[in-house]
Amino acid sequence: MVLAGQMMDRPLLVLPLLQYAAAHHGDSAVVTRSVEGPVHRTTYGETYERVQRLAHALTRLGIKPGDRVATLALNTWRHLDLYFAIAGIGAVCHTVNPRLPADQLAYLLSHAEDRLLFFDICFADQAAALVAGVPTLERVIALTDAAHAPTDGRFGNLLVYDTMIAREGLDFPWPEFDENTAASLCYTSGTTGLPKGVLYSHRALVLHSFAVAANGLASADDILMPVVPMFHVNAWGIPYTAPLLGAPLVFGGPAFDGPRLFDLMETEGVTCTQGVPTLWQGLIVEMRARGHKPKDLRRVVVGGAAVSESMVRAFEDEFGVEVFHAWGMTETTPLGVINRPKAKFKTAPRDRQVRQKLKQGIGVFGADLRIVDGEGRAMPHDGTAQGHIQIRGPWIIKSYFKEDHSPLTADGWFDTGDIGTLDPDGYMEITDRAKDVIKSGGEWISSSMLENAALGHPQVAQAAVIGVPHARWLERPLLICVPRGEPPTLEEINAYLATRLPKWWLPDALECVESLPIGPTGKILKTKLRERFKAIRLG
Ligand code: ADP
Repeated sequence: MVLAGQMMDRPLLVLPLLQYAAAHHGDSAVVTRSVEGPVHRTTYGETYERVQRLAHALTRLGIKPGDRVATLALNTWRHLDLYFAIAGIGAVCHTVNPRLPADQLAYLLSHAEDRLLFFDICFADQAAALVAGVPTLERVIALTDAAHAPTDGRFGNLLVYDTMIAREGLDFPWPEFDENTAASLCYTSGTTGLPKGVLYSHRALVLHSFAVAANGLASADDILMPVVPMFHVNAWGIPYTAPLLGAPLVFGGPAFDGPRLFDLMETEGVTCTQGVPTLWQGLIVEMRARGHKPKDLRRVVVGGAAVSESMVRAFEDEFGVEVFHAWGMTETTPLGVINRPKAKFKTAPRDRQVRQKLKQGIGVFGADLRIVDGEGRAMPHDGTAQGHIQIRGPWIIKSYFKEDHSPLTADGWFDTGDIGTLDPDGYMEITDRAKDVIKSGGEWISSSMLENAALGHPQVAQAAVIGVPHARWLERPLLICVPRGEPPTLEEINAYLATRLPKWWLPDALECVESLPIGPTGKILKTKLRERFKAIRLG
């Protein structure tokens, strides 16, 4: 018989992260480029005061433990308030991606049965459509002050955030509850089918915050600016980890373009920032135009899609900003692996270092990884065997919101839908999404590695590779690119790729297009490309 430990059974809850920051780092700054325009400044101390007032207001509006409250909002201090107040009273903060089409927004709010909707004024049109289309919605609240609130009649009895919380007092009697209670809800982006709800527990979010802090995505001496939106997997957990560390937070609000990102990073002394590659392209263009980096920027965490060699070289070799590559997904809260160079690679030749950086990274403690073949048999960690990547751990999904069937394997692992390798040093490399991998004969060709190699060609600005039917090989790669200047020919591209990739991987066809279809989370929509080029047959 095991012997019970004798430590206190204190639940791991989200609100204490902010209470800690308010008590010990009360004057640490939370700075936002506001939706209304000016830069807004507050602190963790003031944030906790507003969160208490907001908790009173939510309770007055009838929100009870377990209720869902939707946010249609950018990265701002008010959204941070919502994260903590909603979870603090035991309700669920449902962050919604405002860039989704109207019918999908209505589907998500109806599915979640959200009772309230908080919206940034730049999303007033989307919010108005939801008021009309979602029967469970009782009240909507504009995230602004009285001077900027919409005055049209589309919202019924509209509440204004700043006015609403100003009426409330402090000293909210916070409830204490089980750490497995849901704190937030985020739907998968639906690039692979209908969106599915992922309900994050307090326990998962707190443990994940420790993992984010322990693995260098954020540290106590950083000034942090998550550019990844707070409606996308809780901005990778940074809004929870920053208060855990007491580190100042900078929010870009509506600023996603290179010049405004640069300005905010420069003036606020941002040292570490997190986001997807498409956003960083804009920042790099701006850094080149100005001839320098934002002055204090040390580290850029790139995830959500693979970082390319050209991006690593631009940040690191041109500007001395270190790149941490990371991988995760909505279902994994999201941190699964992060690429921080092991000591032995720090002294390796530069090309070898860069090659290693393109791998997604090493599994963090708490997220177990394995690769299996089509029959679920474990595959070797030799850096070449490609298999289905599976993961398990305390912040990995167990089941989707309102779905009965388990998404897990019989032995309790979550299949990520990604294909990749694991090498003897512990580095995972994603070679593709299971549905994007090109099955040429019996072999797999990685579309993402082809794309990244193609991006190194001077005449290629953007690239996507899809499999198209082939008479002999069943499927072969088609390269679709947005040219930079004069469109390249297939022969020119292949001559370049042949020095970097196996010959049999080289694309059989090339299409040059004006732009690639980009989904609401900044990823290329291959479904749209498959549809557009479905007439192509090779061989
Ligand atoms: P969706 O699955 O709908 O695209 P997610 O935002 O959850 O929404 O995306 C997770 C997926 O993004 C992963 O399964 C993986 O395919 C891809 N991804 C995330 N990070 C990386 C990375 N660093 N390199 C390559 N692919 C990545």
